[in-house]
Amino acid sequence: MTTHVIGAGIAGLAAALALAEAGRPVVLHESAPNAGGRCRALPDGTDNGTHALLGANTAALGLLRRIGALEGWVEPEPGGLPVLDLRDHRAFRVALSPLGWRDAALRPPGLTGRALLALARLAVPGRDRAVGAAMAAHPEFHRGFVDPLVIAALNTPSAEASANRLGAVLRRLGGRGATRLLVARSGLGPDLVVPALAALERAGATIRFGARLRRLVTQGGRVQALDFGEDAVALGAGDAVVLATPPWESQRLLPHLETPLAYAPIVNLHYAHPNPGPVRFIGMLEALCQWVLVRPAGVSVTVSAGDAAAREEAATLGPRAWAELREAALAFGLAGDWPEAAPPCRVVKERRATPRHAPGPPLRPPRLPLANLALAGDWTDPVLPATIEASVRSGEAAARALMR
Ligand SMILES: Cc1cc2nc3c(=O)[nH]c(=O)nc-3n(C[C@H](O)[C@H](O)[C@H](O)COP(=O)(O)OP(=O)(O)OC[C@H]3O[C@@H](n4cnc5c(N)ncnc54)[C@H](O)[C@@H]3O)c2cc1C
Repeated sequence: MTTHVIGAGIAGLAAALALAEAGRPVVLHESAPNAGGRCRALPDGTDNGTHALLGANTAALGLLRRIGALEGWVEPEPGGLPVLDLRDHRAFRVALSPLGWRDAALRPPGLTGRALLALARLAVPGRDRAVGAAMAAHPEFHRGFVDPLVIAALNTPSAEASANRLGAVLRRLGGRGATRLLVARSGLGPDLVVPALAALERAGATIRFGARLRRLVTQGGRVQALDFGEDAVALGAGDAVVLATPPWESQRLLPHLETPLAYAPIVNLHYAHPNPGPVRFIGMLEALCQWVLVRPAGVSVTVSAGDAAAREEAATLGPRAWAELREAALAFGLAGDWPEAAPPCRVVKERRATPRHAPGPPLRPPRLPLANLALAGDWTDPVLPATIEASVRSGEAAARALMR
């Protein structure tokens, strides 16, 4: 009755944990030398990219709680998100929750009653269209609030992003604490991946690194064996598989599967610039930098839907982003020195960070494409955009489908 989970990204970790905690024997096979997938620590301890969660991400926060890692996720800006607008160099704070907008000092630029109504309409499912078109009558509110939200949540420019997908996110932001923004205090390794692996080991799961699934051997609508190249695993009558690989790999292994066709990059710049102060998180408008995360170990910049940044050389990206974030650090009086010269910088370009979420119905791939194989992965969530939350939900749904 062994379940083989393929892929130790967040979806695979969540599926493996759900199965192992239910008492099922689990073997987790990961092709890379480390777990985490697109949400991982690099060998030098840096994150591949800044990952933020919201209070609304109840599945992700539930996973963190179960693995004993919730305390590592901190809310850097409880008093409203600091934002620097490079159009007019104005520094201000914005509440992420509309309730916070009762305080005039925490309102996003361009907020009017009609703009708020247009945002509320996005939360109502209807004929899908691009967010940019839906918000065209409110250009300043779109520029200063909706566009950054869309790029962060959907990793898709709002001119091509699905209003219905954004609506699914907005509908989850109504609850108490749902808009609290959380980041890993020390990094994705210590605050997520390492505790997840430890929890799996405590639950009795076996983890194999460097184990790349080459081929699924199928017959009669079932997986018969897993071909890892140097070794093969024959499946017994009660054995099962969770395929938690990225979409392009799942499509290679199951060629009839319909998977997303277009992906968007996320570029992160990590500066070796230690900071004496607390963790901080700053948004920027009209800038290369979209989000600046300041942690004791260094400063990281995120550029989501970063098609242009992914084409630019690291040699020019580094100094350009540093000049912008330095202005933000000085505007908000961040602790420490902020020299003019950019410190050494590591640029990480994740070219297929997530699918692009264009208007149109989501894919809805089958959870059980074969009798003893369940699909997981951020791209398989029928409602939410590809995020940590979608990954956890998909992994737990795959585990439930096999245990039924
Ligand atoms: C830079 C960046 C920033 C992001 N920021 C955020 C954020 O702020 N908030 C948020 O919620 N989400 C964010 N995301 C999205 C989030 O990281 C992903 O949605 C999530 O990590 C996807 O997890 P997954 O398990 O579905 O897939 P993956 O992470 O792709 O995991 C798949 C795993 O399968 C392994 N694998 C592949 N092929 C095989 C094979 N044949 N055999 C065995 N193993 C195999 C891979 O090595 C990998 O470990 C970001 C993504 C990136 C890249």
